[in-house]
Amino acid sequence: MGGAFFLLTVNFLIAQLFCVFFLVIAKRSRIPEAGRWFALSFAVASLSALFELAIRFADFDRLASFGAFSSVLAALFMIRLGIGRLYSIPVNIVLAGWFFAVSLAVNLMIFDLPRSTPLHAFGYQSPFFVAAIVSALAIYRSGRRERADLILMALLTATALQFLFKVYFIVTFGAGADAQSYLASAYALISQSLSAVLVVSIGLTLLAVLVVEIMDDAKARSETDPLSALYNRRGFNERVAGILARPVAAYPHCLVVCDIDHFKAVNDTHGHQVGDQVIAAFGAMLNDRAPREAICARLGGEEFAIFLPSAGETIGYLFAQGLRSSFAGLSISGIPRSEPLTASFGVCELANANDLIADVMRRADAALYSAKKSGRNRVNRASIVEPLWAEQQAKA
Ligand code: GH3
Ligand code: MG
Ligand code: MG
Repeated sequence: MGGAFFLLTVNFLIAQLFCVFFLVIAKRSRIPEAGRWFALSFAVASLSALFELAIRFADFDRLASFGAFSSVLAALFMIRLGIGRLYSIPVNIVLAGWFFAVSLAVNLMIFDLPRSTPLHAFGYQSPFFVAAIVSALAIYRSGRRERADLILMALLTATALQFLFKVYFIVTFGAGADAQSYLASAYALISQSLSAVLVVSIGLTLLAVLVVEIMDDAKARSETDPLSALYNRRGFNERVAGILARPVAAYPHCLVVCDIDHFKAVNDTHGHQVGDQVIAAFGAMLNDRAPREAICARLGGEEFAIFLPSAGETIGYLFAQGLRSSFAGLSISGIPRSEPLTASFGVCELANANDLIADVMRRADAALYSAKKSGRNRVNRASIVEPLWAEQQAKA
């Protein structure tokens, strides 16, 4: 058994294995089509090994050679389609279709040209170069620069360049006089070894990108509240901790907490589903009105928190007043216009790095509680509530 023959068999099995891996991973992915395209790509790529073997054993070498060429080209396009899904960079199908058709036609035309000539080698390899480089360019255009993205981009570029390198190699050292003698050539051995390394590297990196995407998605889900589309308590705490780690110059920060008024009555009168719609509407309003750097969360039930980085108590107060009047004017399906809903707010500032977030949360909650006690539909500031409370305590 020749070395190239052995490598073709190994490449075939590796590609088949990757196909299975991608199908398994795709099931877990938020974008299963990407994994399925990769699975199909590796399945189709594995056919090229069979075609190359067929060149040796059969008399229909023209057909087998064409089959090997078209399966590799199709596999590269499928990688591009999968990357298009994964990185949200769609493929121009018409252009790709034309390129594919022209490449196949050129491949048929050059079959009878003398091998190992620049024209034959370039006509054969250049479509692969284009098909591989477009995937690298798609990742580049996506702007995503995680480590796995960069590695994938580099590997796809290396794969593309490798096809150009093959042109040089074929022209310099020869690739056999015809398709059959190709398999016996030193070039075939090197070409297949290089392909094996690149197929395994790209396969593993694509798997890594998919796994990272699945993990990121799971993390995002564990930190988000599906009803309000805001962070949950865990997501909120994590983001706030990140901001509190900023330099002292970033202080003060401001915390706003709020609670919808008489929400039990909403559930009792209009039903739990309408209650859910109110929570969703409140979440949408927060997402819409909060500054881009604010961290908005649903802490539980109908209680929300907004962390405003690098904002003092006055800004927090004005922001909360804006939310209060917006919410009172919000139209929510299932809630009659004649009975507008209201919410109460507590505002507290983190003046410096010595303020603990747990203390500030307690003080904002106390301000919210006092807003509820003094009639609801209002915003109370901890800096004003606390001295009043202390005064009352002193009098009592
Ligand atoms: P207050 O003005 O004092 O805040 O009165 P309230 O009725 O809003 O009182 P409270 O905060 O104790 O009531 C919260 C209610 O919110 C109780 C619970 O049944 C309801 N609730 C909690 N989570 C959900 C939810 O996910 N959906 C719906 N529809 N209701 C919820
Ligand atoms: Mg309430
Ligand atoms: Mg409540």
